[in-house]
Amino acid sequence: MHDNPQTQGSPWVYKIQRYSLHDGPGIRTTLFFQGCPLSCTWCHNPESQSLAGPIPEEQIQPVTRDIMAEIQKDRIFYDESQGGVTFSGGEPLCQPVLLLSLLDTCRNMGIHTCLDTCGYGHEKALKRSAESADMILFDIKLVDPADHQRFTGRPPGRILENLSALSESDVRVKLRFPVIPGITDTPVNIESILDLLTRQTPFRDIHLLPYHQTGKGKYRSLGNDYQLNNVHPPGSRHLNRLQRQFESSGFSVTIGG
Ligand code: SF4
Repeated sequence: MHDNPQTQGSPWVYKIQRYSLHDGPGIRTTLFFQGCPLSCTWCHNPESQSLAGPIPEEQIQPVTRDIMAEIQKDRIFYDESQGGVTFSGGEPLCQPVLLLSLLDTCRNMGIHTCLDTCGYGHEKALKRSAESADMILFDIKLVDPADHQRFTGRPPGRILENLSALSESDVRVKLRFPVIPGITDTPVNIESILDLLTRQTPFRDIHLLPYHQTGKGKYRSLGNDYQLNNVHPPGSRHLNRLQRQFESSGFSVTIGG
């Protein structure tokens, strides 16, 4: 979640941010894809949610070339910091053809890649991405179907199926859990997430992403109501307790991106 773009991208990649330190290892360039199938009430980038049409076939090569030119500007920083490129959004799986073109080009050039996904995409596209990406950052938010529908606009089934499908791939997966007080951060949801992850996946790296309100002003400028005015960022003591709870279930926990 970033607010200071240094470079504007194409209509399919609405923002390119250089020198990012929170979207995977080392110094990274983060590309924000336009369009997201979810509409999380806490989203910091609501402007990224409206779906762009699919990229026309004849645009794939020129757009890939232009984006790669931006990516390569910071190659020296990636090499020195073991960093690379992160494909984020919005949801990169909304543009699978462009995503795969960029992932494959980076792999051919030896540039480390992360796919940051909400998990709501076609399984085939996710599995194919997992073959080309070095790391996947996978969000896990809510387990209860009614809560997931209420707070993200979609049911969780496809996301959980995709998480399970990734268990069979070799790609490194880091989980990301947005800690939203009273919504995702409830005893019942946390118990459900721990139960689901430990029973159904081999993934034990998790980042706890504390809620913050930096995207609040964007809702006003988009003419939308911000629904979480009464939700406050979790305190450090609470986050530390949460960390210990995950650790006692066998997870390696990082607080923050
Ligand atoms: S998945 Fe991410 S980008 Fe999409 S609505 Fe939720 S927070 Fe926003």
